Amino acid sequence: MEREIKPGPRRGLLIVNTGHGKGKTTAAIGLLFRALGRDFKGIMLQFIKSKKHIYGEHIMAERLGIEIRPLGDGFTWESKNIEHDKKLAAECWQQCREVIESGRHDIVILDELTYPLKYGWLPVGEVLDVLKRRNPDMHVVITGRDAVPELVEAADLVSEIQVIKHPFKKGIKAQLGIEM
Ligand code: ATP
Ligand code: MG
Repeated sequence: MEREIKPGPRRGLLIVNTGHGKGKTTAAIGLLFRALGRDFKGIMLQFIKSKKHIYGEHIMAERLGIEIRPLGDGFTWESKNIEHDKKLAAECWQQCREVIESGRHDIVILDELTYPLKYGWLPVGEVLDVLKRRNPDMHVVITGRDAVPELVEAADLVSEIQVIKHPFKKGIKAQLGIEM
């Protein structure tokens, strides 16, 4: 029989999956899967994805009763209009904030949150303040390229996924079940 790894005292971690290589979101989903195995209550809030595009994880999450919530539904990001993007980011962040402040989850994934921070659509200070004041048992996972230095500084665990090879470079288009 496998021996269990003895867990340490519970302490909510701030985890960041960043870098330009593929696997940040899927690694976060892997963590969610593991946490749910421990009967944790988990949720994934997705910044960039809208409900218009269905991904394999949405289908499977529904089958398993896991909540993956695409934010900003019905809106589009238009990087030419910073005021529009700021308003949209603020509305998306408000939903994240409510989830975090409710304290009802053991693990909260904020998928692609690095982008609104990088582009200045959301104030980093405000986001970090909400994270700092969260339930101390709550694990939070943030994904996305180019995590801003303040976020890296505040995090307990930061992993950077680098690109060694990506089939896109060879002209191979996105694959069902791998990308979507
Ligand atoms: P995944 O959701 O597959 O875990 P990710 O979260 O690490 O990927 P994102 O930056 O969110 O990556 O990009 C999402 C999409 O872009 C994925 O379909 C992924 O395959 C693709 N992608 C990621 N890295 C690269 C790359 N270096 N070159 C081309 N496409 C990429
Ligand atoms: Mg991603």
